[in-house]
Amino acid sequence: MVDRFNGSFTQQEAISEEAIEAAVRILRSGRLHRYNVAEGEIGETALLELEFAETLGSKYCLGVASGGYALATALRALGVKSGDKVLTNAFTLAPVPGSISAVGADPIFVDVTEDLVIDLEDLKAKSDHSRFLMLSHMRGHICNMDALMTICEAYDVTVIEDCAHTMGAKWDGRWSGRFGTVACYSTQTYKHINSGEGGLLITDNAEVMAKAVMLSGSYMLYERHVASPEPEVFSKIRLETPNTSGRMDHLRAAILRPQLRQLEAQCDAWNKRYRLIEAGIKKTPGLTTIRRDKREKFVGSSIQFLLKDWSGTAVENVLSRCAARGVELKWFGAANPAGFTSTYKSWTYASHSTLPKSDAILAGLIDMRIPLTFSLEDCATIAEIIRVEVGAVFQNF
Ligand SMILES: *Cc1c(COP(=O)(O)O)cnc(C)c1O
Repeated sequence: MVDRFNGSFTQQEAISEEAIEAAVRILRSGRLHRYNVAEGEIGETALLELEFAETLGSKYCLGVASGGYALATALRALGVKSGDKVLTNAFTLAPVPGSISAVGADPIFVDVTEDLVIDLEDLKAKSDHSRFLMLSHMRGHICNMDALMTICEAYDVTVIEDCAHTMGAKWDGRWSGRFGTVACYSTQTYKHINSGEGGLLITDNAEVMAKAVMLSGSYMLYERHVASPEPEVFSKIRLETPNTSGRMDHLRAAILRPQLRQLEAQCDAWNKRYRLIEAGIKKTPGLTTIRRDKREKFVGSSIQFLLKDWSGTAVENVLSRCAARGVELKWFGAANPAGFTSTYKSWTYASHSTLPKSDAILAGLIDMRIPLTFSLEDCATIAEIIRVEVGAVFQNF
């Protein structure tokens, strides 16, 4: 048995030589701004948008400065205004409620289930109170999308999908991001393709895309977009839509295009690691792995498990024992959020009622990143450490 795992949970893979060469070409050209193109040239950013739209089968795509920016832009483009209510997951990452707040709207938090997806019963109960749902596929868990869309259509709720953790994932054969009116992706370092920072927004709705392009800071240069509506659509909205500057640039687009071509292989590599760790910890007494629906083709870039009904002290004990052996686990049940583990209660700018069901789940929710720099052997070691340490603490209850 290995005493200690020595890998780094924040070490992503290097950018490929192909992507580095593409980046160097852009640097040599001096033309980094997305609208800075030579006569007749289609820039890297427009090409990335075109290729991303083609991959997902969407009509339109817009590259932006970050995933969070894409979310706020989607809300603005859909006409969400100050004081509006927007339904969203109680279990998600801070930029999600943050984007709702950024447009002056107020989140209504919807419960999470033990499968770590949005609670459709709670969603149904709250759907009367809002015309919008910002659906976060948090940590790559995809709910029954057919059931969700049935509810949202019945209540006339427009869906924005937060696909920060589901780029490359599908529900029942259909891409995550192709159910809602708009979908947003992040290309930040810890997501599925890496440009440091960056975001992508897709939609089939011409007016929403035209507004998003104007919002992103296109000035009157929107005709340099390719995966974008006809100029006539812009002529209606171009002067009444503010420029809230948040463009993507050629340098990021250049390193993302080769990564997009590798996405499927990368997703397979993540899932091999995920399944290996899952199998290794599955039978641990006191530990519950997360059930995954057969229709969900997820991307296992992170893994979660529940220590159901454990005391806070016992959970902390597991975390520190694992940490001592080099395994970095994050806990969504801590009284004080650390790193990215904040929850609906931490976002005190937004009012909320208490969600006892979500609280009980989050109290035992453990999360771990799976960077692709981990070998399969590393993953087996990590699973073994978790199994032993959780088992040891559980035995002493
Ligand atoms: C990372 C993330 C975002 C926002 O992406 P950024 O590019 O960091 O702004 C949104 N939602 C979830 C669930 C995320 O993990």
